[in-house]
Amino acid sequence: MKLINPVKLLTDARTAANCAYAPYSKYRVGAALLTADDTIFTGCNVENSSYGLTICAERVAIFSAISAGKRKFKALAIVSKGKKSPSPCGACRQVLAEFSRNIPIYFASASALKKFRCIPSADLLPESFKL
Ligand SMILES: [Zn+2]
Repeated sequence: MKLINPVKLLTDARTAANCAYAPYSKYRVGAALLTADDTIFTGCNVENSSYGLTICAERVAIFSAISAGKRKFKALAIVSKGKKSPSPCGACRQVLAEFSRNIPIYFASASALKKFRCIPSADLLPESFKL
């Protein structure tokens, strides 16, 4: 796993969180995904009154990259507007595992970007589902 300087990625994720549509949970999250060719794709969580249709910021960013033909990633940053640093849900961990074996995942609260944590994606879901 190769670490990067996450400042730009965390800042982009925090900006993306401003676009979150979270009228139900009020939990606003942004994600920024760095691809192998140094393109950044962002995403925010988008909730729905039918809760099961809600999608997380991480998956929006990943699916945006895939839609643009990018499938190799270097790093992912996730920023929440809450006081606590966010952590990806199981679905997002599995989706990430589909495309990235081991990249750094940076987590931070929007109010404390400099206090980010970094966890290797392989540690987030060590026994991911694979066909
Ligand atoms: Zn998720």
